[in-house]
Amino acid sequence: MERKKALQYFNDNRESLLEKLEELIRIPSISTEAQHRGDVGRAAEWLADYLRALDMETVEILATGGAPVVYGCSKSGASGQAVGPTVLIYGHYDVQPVDPLEEWEGDPFEPRRQGDHLYARGASDMKGQIMAALISLQAAQSAGDLPIRFKFLFEGEEEIGSPNLYRFIEEHRELLACDLCLNPDTGMLGPELPTITYALRGLAYFELRLRGPSQDLHSGSFGGAVHNPAQVLCELIAGLHDPDGRVAVPGFYDRVRDLEEEERRELARLPVDEVFLTKTAGVKKLWGERGYTPVERIGARPTLEVNGLLSGFTGEGSKTVLPATAMAKLSCRLVADQKPEEVKRQLEQVLRDRVPDTVSWELIPLAGSPPVQSRRDSLGVSALSAAFERVWGKRPLFRREGGTVPIGAYLQELLGVDSVQTGFSLPDDNAHSPNEKLHLPTWSRGIEGLIHFYYNLSDSGAGDPQGGRSLNGEDK
Ligand SMILES: [Zn+2]
Repeated sequence: MERKKALQYFNDNRESLLEKLEELIRIPSISTEAQHRGDVGRAAEWLADYLRALDMETVEILATGGAPVVYGCSKSGASGQAVGPTVLIYGHYDVQPVDPLEEWEGDPFEPRRQGDHLYARGASDMKGQIMAALISLQAAQSAGDLPIRFKFLFEGEEEIGSPNLYRFIEEHRELLACDLCLNPDTGMLGPELPTITYALRGLAYFELRLRGPSQDLHSGSFGGAVHNPAQVLCELIAGLHDPDGRVAVPGFYDRVRDLEEEERRELARLPVDEVFLTKTAGVKKLWGERGYTPVERIGARPTLEVNGLLSGFTGEGSKTVLPATAMAKLSCRLVADQKPEEVKRQLEQVLRDRVPDTVSWELIPLAGSPPVQSRRDSLGVSALSAAFERVWGKRPLFRREGGTVPIGAYLQELLGVDSVQTGFSLPDDNAHSPNEKLHLPTWSRGIEGLIHFYYNLSDSGAGDPQGGRSLNGEDK
């Protein structure tokens, strides 16, 4: 009955709730631009005020080394006992810069409704998603006691790589303790394709420097007697893949989880095929590890990529030089259960084994972020899947994303909880680009979906100290 009341509340108040989202959007909280630091703080204040108005037990703006974190926690049940499981809602209230401004059809921070869309910076990524989570909570609250317990972690530095987030979570483990995290920052593949993202790849990024002679040499005077570091680098890189497209680094695949048949069938449902990828990438033909589909290769298999190369003379015309140095930027996308530090050790071993003693080498790590993978049979995922099925009338798609978002891995490592990753943004929302937009019908369905999600979790009995399964699908 409460479920119905909550849905009714959203229906009745949709307009005024949408205006709240517009209010938040008007704050230009661009985290990367120093002149907007005050606005970033204002967005944090705005969210804290919103949570206070929702009568949370705790709302705090907590300092980090950079933009603050908005933390909150809902009240426990009337009896003082926690009701249902505790869900941590993650979000980021910062946005991307707006340039090139001339390509916008209006002020990026003055939300504009046109047809089914709301145009503005942050509408889709991700103020609209934060508000979807809060509005669905508000709807449930209007119907009676909250069905589950909520905590909130809203950061203001996601668009600049969340430099303070790991430390923040590490220092606030108890405050953030929960049964699962809802992260609505990943989207859907289409308005009729509700999507749950259960895995994201990690990243290990390096700069490889080779040094030969102490300075650039005349290739006529020294060529043939001195080993060219550019040649050494090319040979090294050529040896990093085998003819089957696999990464030829010993141990690289040791921790990679195998794809099960059932999962492969699930991934095959995704509306992403060879033709689409070939066209989107603008290539003659796709390439990759033998034995896997392109979707599997992008989401479920690790890679090693050359991101950049630099050596010798690259200007106009010819210059007969034997370069002193050669440099490559190399990065690996990782899948569970690979570890960035371990991949670094494996690459170092390859270099020790394969770099000839005519040159010296140095491998500098530039970035590292572990992969994350949640169980698809967890109660959290099941509850969300059932919720989407109710609203959309079909099973959601289960997707693995090839990119890297570290929050899920941080929460798994530091709090031991899985994240349910979803969201109601669409691939053509122009996130990070001019004329960012939010598809309002999808947003509304998303809110209905989250309302069902909260009640489904409550009905599952998860988090109930008297029994029930833990949200990670294991018996407590
Ligand atoms: Zn985002």
